[in-house]
Amino acid sequence: MTKSYEELPLTPISTEPSTINLTGLWRVIRPVVDKEKCKKCKICWKFCPDAAIKLVDGEPVIDLRYCKGCGICAFECPQKCIIMVREDEA
Ligand code: SF4
Ligand code: SF4
Repeated sequence: MTKSYEELPLTPISTEPSTINLTGLWRVIRPVVDKEKCKKCKICWKFCPDAAIKLVDGEPVIDLRYCKGCGICAFECPQKCIIMVREDEA
């Protein structure tokens, strides 16, 4: 039987917005977009699990404060114009 929320155990909650968590600090590789090849299809923007890609005049711009370097954008880009580069080589 489904429980009401009042019957569920208490859990920790954040009192701050998640934007204070700078998940980009975890990153060891970063995405780099080849703007010449980019078709502005927005697929990378749609797939980024951290909402770390902003669209500026239709072009993807990576917000490195939040990009964790998972590589999903590079995997999903149909043009293969995002490459993942090691932080110590960027
Ligand atoms: S590497 Fe992952 S977190 Fe970073 S922009 Fe691409 S999809 Fe988002
Ligand atoms: S998925 Fe690739 S081609 Fe599409 S907007 Fe992103 S970088 Fe550009």
